Amino acid sequence: MTACYCQFCAGKLEPAQEFRFLVETETLDDPVHLNRIRQLPATTGGRPLRVCKSCQKTMERHPVQFRRAVLEREHVRQQFRAAGVLAAVGILSAGWFLTLLLGSQRA
Ligand SMILES: [Zn+2]
Repeated sequence: MTACYCQFCAGKLEPAQEFRFLVETETLDDPVHLNRIRQLPATTGGRPLRVCKSCQKTMERHPVQFRRAVLEREHVRQQFRAAGVLAAVGILSAGWFLTLLLGSQRA
């Protein structure tokens, strides 16, 4: 089994938290079962978060700040994805431009 790390503080998960995360991830498509076992805080998309016990306690103590932090993380991830697409397009068009340039020099 691969080691699970907290996605907030990058600390290694306690076996109980790791087990919860695996079980909750496995039962995502079974909402009835998931509601019964759900112990981890979840993202807006309903996915369980991979958190260690101390981070989970902090979240439960400050639910509003935690929600905001999760939303920000998701927003940043989306921006990164958009930036990646832009970079790929940029590289492709640079390649196209070079071909054009070299082609015109040869002619
Ligand atoms: Zn943590």
